[in-house]
Amino acid sequence: MRSLQDPVSVLTGVGPKKLTALNKLGINTIEDLLTYYPFRYDDLAVKQLDQVEDGQKVVLKGKIATAPVVVRFGRAKNRLNFNLLVEHDVLKVTFFNQAYLAKQLTSGQEVAIYGKYDQRRQGLTAMRLITQKNDDLAGVYRASKEITAKTIKSLVEQAYQAYEELLVDIIPVNIREKYRLSSRKEMLHDMHFPNDLSKSQAARRAAIFEEFFKFQLQIQALKRRAQKEDGLLIAYDNQKLRTFIYSLPFELTAAQKRVVNEICHDLHQAKHMNRLLQGDVGSGKTVVAAIAMYAAITAGYQAVLMAPTEILAQQHAQKLAQIFAAFPEVNVALLTSTTNRRSKAKKELLKHLKAGEINALVGTHAVIQDNVEFAKLGLVITDEQHRFGVLQRQALRKKGQKPDTLAMTATPIPRTLAITTYGEMDISVINELPKGRKPIETTWIKKKQFPEALNRVEEQLRLGAQAYVISPLIEESEMLDLQNATETYEKLKKYFAGRYTVALLHGKMAAEEKEKVMADFKAGKYDILVSTTVIEVGVDVSNATMMVILDADRFGLAQLHQLRGRVGRGEKRSYCLLVADPKSEYGSERMKTMVETNDGFVIAQRDLELRGPGDVLGKKQAGLPEFKLGDPISDFNILQVAQAEVFELLARPELLQKAEYVGIRQYLAEVTLGRPGLD
Ligand code: ADP
Ligand code: MG
Repeated sequence: MRSLQDPVSVLTGVGPKKLTALNKLGINTIEDLLTYYPFRYDDLAVKQLDQVEDGQKVVLKGKIATAPVVVRFGRAKNRLNFNLLVEHDVLKVTFFNQAYLAKQLTSGQEVAIYGKYDQRRQGLTAMRLITQKNDDLAGVYRASKEITAKTIKSLVEQAYQAYEELLVDIIPVNIREKYRLSSRKEMLHDMHFPNDLSKSQAARRAAIFEEFFKFQLQIQALKRRAQKEDGLLIAYDNQKLRTFIYSLPFELTAAQKRVVNEICHDLHQAKHMNRLLQGDVGSGKTVVAAIAMYAAITAGYQAVLMAPTEILAQQHAQKLAQIFAAFPEVNVALLTSTTNRRSKAKKELLKHLKAGEINALVGTHAVIQDNVEFAKLGLVITDEQHRFGVLQRQALRKKGQKPDTLAMTATPIPRTLAITTYGEMDISVINELPKGRKPIETTWIKKKQFPEALNRVEEQLRLGAQAYVISPLIEESEMLDLQNATETYEKLKKYFAGRYTVALLHGKMAAEEKEKVMADFKAGKYDILVSTTVIEVGVDVSNATMMVILDADRFGLAQLHQLRGRVGRGEKRSYCLLVADPKSEYGSERMKTMVETNDGFVIAQRDLELRGPGDVLGKKQAGLPEFKLGDPISDFNILQVAQAEVFELLARPELLQKAEYVGIRQYLAEVTLGRPGLD
């Protein structure tokens, strides 16, 4: 039977090569393809020349006035020129590298051309010849080196036609009517092939609603299921735990005590723990994690701490070894892909793990791979927003383990937002920092004051400290991102030549390369690290006291706060310089907020308030789940409504049996089976 879960390879024209290319873009099933939405729409309505502004991309219609001429230049490059008579104006049309079009074009012919209008030159840099009669808006898809946007588009068309009859509404009709949402069929049609702007906007709203609605169905259903399932009762030794906590060189903050109690309460119940621990950078989450691990260990269980990168795993392993130094019953080990290479050491480690002798394992995702066996795994802790997914949980269950789970994140999320985005988890919050922390002194300067920034950086370097310089973020283009970072790097290298050393870190580097640069910086081999935002995850370089963020207004507040949190990790006073000439009022407000406060929760709340609809800043926000279309912050209202509606629906399971809820039933069946991609 055909279903939207069919692999895209069922489509005509999708062979192994295209399949791989599609998979790389995250498109595995027909459903994935149909929800692979255009990232922009080109306006293909034919325009009058006097309506067109300089630099605008438009479709113009006219008569070819001179025979097309092809000029070849460079290696395999060419230019096709002719004059186009548009009403009474003559435009110089140029196509680059499309010489083959010359055969289709003759003098006197009527054509429609999409291109960029250059007023000064009276020219049109043509992008494409409009051959078929199209709708006025054309969706443009994010493509890759292996597959073009055009191919994707034609596959979407094919899939839509072939599967149209299977497009069942997931959002029930009463909810659609209440919020004036189109049917799924119509929504998908207008997302891909909108006739006009208003249709496209309506479809977008419906698509975002659907995305959030599905997300809510998934997390709320999971939560309900987890509540019914039995889990481990970890009967930890309270006396030992107290002794351990007293052994720490400081007293826990009130917030730490509260979250420790919440976690311990969960551990001690025969219920599955699925808890999120939120706390600003430096709020002391690692200690809380250690306490939870120790609790599990006193009950004879093993505990695992997973970090997103190798260097973070190493850092955690070091910290834990330190914390547990006086507790010989705790045996800390580190398992990462580096460990993997030295197979003898790894074999030893795995043996001890299987025997239960290692009971506090730290590592990257390698720790839950197939060949890793535990004697008695009781607790899995993940660091930095790596949510422990259904699939991983299932993989462990297959090995006979159903550990409690705790996810730690340094991204403070306002409570309302946390409930809607992490609804499947219980939430613990550390909302205070240990006493005596020095706030990071933040200053906002204009771009023309950049030389001042360099002086301030040098001041810190002279004191033997290190500095980060974050290069501007270009949301739409990794290429420009890299170019920016490289330019900044070259500039600083020249400026500090012979005095201080500079390193570069960017997203295009291989993971290992990145870790090497980070490790070298941590070891003090470089004074300055120029980076794109890839350093966001919590690498601890306590000697770094200066954070310069260029074009800071391009970042969202949460991201700025994350970046700033990279300094101020040692004893020394730390500084953050925001270099920005914001163009909008929101931008200025964001800079002011950063200067005024160091409190992540205040900042996160302001972020909610300052984010206007359509403001795409920092969409890939750390700590929040990623959506294809919706932004949990700027589309927060929709998210909230979807949450409430799903809550009501799931609270009345008898209702769901009715015919009009077939879409929901199907979707829930898929999700709770834990299919790939839905996790
Ligand atoms: P996080 O993981 O939340 O960023 P850490 O657990 O790494 O924070 O803690 C940051 C630093 O603060 C560590 O050096 C830790 O030893 C210290 N610390 C943690 N809790 C306290 C506390 N209650 N009082 C004083 N120092 C603390
Ligand atoms: Mg930490």
